Amino acid sequence: MTTTPRNDALAAATTFAAFGLPADLLAELTRRGVEAPFPIQAATLPDALAGRDVLGRGQTGSGKTLAFGLPLLARTAGRRAEARRPLALVLVPTRELAQQVTDALAPYAEVLKLRLATVVGGLSIGRQAAALRDGAEVVIATPGRLMDLVERKDCRLDRVAVTVLDEADRMADMGFLPQVTEILDQVPGAGQRMLFSATLDRDVDALVERYLKDAAGHSVDPSAAAVSTMEHHVLHVHGPDKFATATEIAARDGRVIMFLHTKASVDRFTKHLLGSGVRAAALHGGKSQPLRTRTLDRFRTGEVTVLVATDVAARGIHVDELDLVVNVDPPADAKDYLHRGGRTARAGESGLVVTLVTDEERRDVAQLMTEAGIRPRTTRVRSGEAELTRITGARKPSGVPVDGSAPSQEGGKRGGAAFRGIGTTPGRPGRAKNESRRAAEARKTAEARRAAKVRRGG
Ligand code: AMP
Repeated sequence: MTTTPRNDALAAATTFAAFGLPADLLAELTRRGVEAPFPIQAATLPDALAGRDVLGRGQTGSGKTLAFGLPLLARTAGRRAEARRPLALVLVPTRELAQQVTDALAPYAEVLKLRLATVVGGLSIGRQAAALRDGAEVVIATPGRLMDLVERKDCRLDRVAVTVLDEADRMADMGFLPQVTEILDQVPGAGQRMLFSATLDRDVDALVERYLKDAAGHSVDPSAAAVSTMEHHVLHVHGPDKFATATEIAARDGRVIMFLHTKASVDRFTKHLLGSGVRAAALHGGKSQPLRTRTLDRFRTGEVTVLVATDVAARGIHVDELDLVVNVDPPADAKDYLHRGGRTARAGESGLVVTLVTDEERRDVAQLMTEAGIRPRTTRVRSGEAELTRITGARKPSGVPVDGSAPSQEGGKRGGAAFRGIGTTPGRPGRAKNESRRAAEARKTAEARRAAKVRRGG
């Protein structure tokens, strides 16, 4: 499956009326003082009402119940369930949440003449079976009890057209995945699915992968919100060519942060870059704090153009006008991906995140992108190729080794200026602000594409 990240800030609408909800529903919302949609609602309602699968990230309190509830009710309105055959299903991890969702949706269901049934453990199964037998369009259930009812033939799922998984991460944590998948396997595949979760790691990605199709990914999590202003590329590389490819990207005209797994690989790659003529510096936990601070300063001023870093060392650092982040080694998980990528495209600037992927890493990275709610553009590249240059501004390094030793704090008394041999004035800022013409063109094309997508409402 793939997900389409949306710029949710731009998708915000100010009234519920703009979404074309049924008039009865709008009147009830107004009556209850629910007038302006919360961000997650503004973001998900258009896709959800259009019947698309939705992947939503939002905490309790964000308004996610109505974000899935209103489309679920609106799309079910006017239909009538046969005995034991509900038309819409909300799965939740706990009895309390089932009650909360039922209470939140009941007034809206009532105006649409839809019958709700709550199916949870710990209460009389006979009464729940009776409610299903009488006919309920919408069932709000915990997975275990619903499976019991299905096994007793008190409920059939073959008419369910809309399925919601609420707090999917908690359901996974509580060990409900076997029942959840069993239920989803019985729901017709053509139906709509919406999955909401505060986090998309752990086992949730497996559910997304298996049961959501071309889902619109929406998030009101600020760490991920910035991601929508970025362009994401996966560059599929031939294993032995990976470091040559990374070196050419490093040699681009402009600054870049490159991530590798370990301190040792960071040091090795930095040394290799210096030997190739690229003004690189290493940033990892093995360096003293004063040295790390100095390295960052040199990167900020443009004296160093490539920062080679581990995750930990680069967390939270902020560099203006950084338009490229490269994952030379793929991040461990979606969170690290978002943290790494978050170094670019700060404060609304555009940015590019490039992940180099070998054959062996391909599957893991695809899964991670799904977790992160990102649909990257994948290109197969080799070092020296025009396509690599078009995407990243890559070019052949000078091959003239540079001295990577940092000048001392007093101003470079320690054996001459750093980066001898590259023919630029050490410490001169400004160079980093330039980007190669091709990289600039690539960026402009990306921006135009994004603008067009936003205009289309996509
Ligand atoms: P939820 O995150 O779905 O549990 O919702 C949190 C609270 O916000 C609930 O009490 C909702 O009734 C309320 N709420 C949800 N959406 C809106 C809205 N658009 N305007 C005002 N209150 C809302």
